[in-house]
Amino acid sequence: MGLKIGDFDVRSAMFGTLTLDGGAMFGVVPKVLWEKTNPADERNRITLATRGIVVRGRGLTILVDVGSGDKGSAKFNDIYGIDAKRPDTVLQAMGIEPDEVTHVVISHLHFDHCGGSTMVQGDTVVPTFPKARYLIQKRQYAHAMHPTPRDRASFMPANYEPLEATGQLELVDGVVEITKDVSLIVSDGHTVGQQMLRIHGPERDLIYLADLVPTVSHLPIPYVMAYDMYPVTTMEEKQIILDDAAENGHILVFEHDPFHAAAIITKEGRNYKVKEFVDL
Ligand SMILES: [Zn+2]
Repeated sequence: MGLKIGDFDVRSAMFGTLTLDGGAMFGVVPKVLWEKTNPADERNRITLATRGIVVRGRGLTILVDVGSGDKGSAKFNDIYGIDAKRPDTVLQAMGIEPDEVTHVVISHLHFDHCGGSTMVQGDTVVPTFPKARYLIQKRQYAHAMHPTPRDRASFMPANYEPLEATGQLELVDGVVEITKDVSLIVSDGHTVGQQMLRIHGPERDLIYLADLVPTVSHLPIPYVMAYDMYPVTTMEEKQIILDDAAENGHILVFEHDPFHAAAIITKEGRNYKVKEFVDL
């Protein structure tokens, strides 16, 4: 498994699943439309993956997003239906030791994306990857410090404050190149300063979409989560990236899709369609 993009090997890293309210995941879209592809449980929740990627090449090991982690209480895990593996154990099973990770890219600080950043050790919480620089957008970090009542439940300081204590937190601002051909790009509709990873390849790029387009079912422009702070911004940002991907055959990675890690899409009229699924 895995995929070669230029100098880099890209592999999917599955950190587990969570279940979220189906209505919240599809915003204004009626259940009669979304339930066909995303059947809800008796509590109206749908199953979502928490999928990161590992990018290796040129001496770097870059991990993008880390799942929910294992610090949540039994009550918390029940509400969100969390079944999570710690990212260090997932990487070890892939043959990668925690201290080999050079960069951890955190798309944003919602718990299902950054919970695995830190772990309990004795009576403290420490970074899961001891030698990594943890890259987070400055505006996202500032927002996490002062969330609104609407999104406060998604932010937990134990997931990121310990990174500051060890000096591993690196706040970045806007589009940043980690190394040639590997960039962080930003979108603000889901939450301010969400970052996605883009690898520029000789034939096609690979884009890790984070929560801009969480699953294949969210390809239609109006299929935007109710969690998004600025849904109209999400729609505009989505259209730019999906048009580019459809035109140039870029590979799109879907963090929350329970069935498919990645796909190449086409555009027919106003609709985006999967041309082929891609294994990672
Ligand atoms: Zn999410």
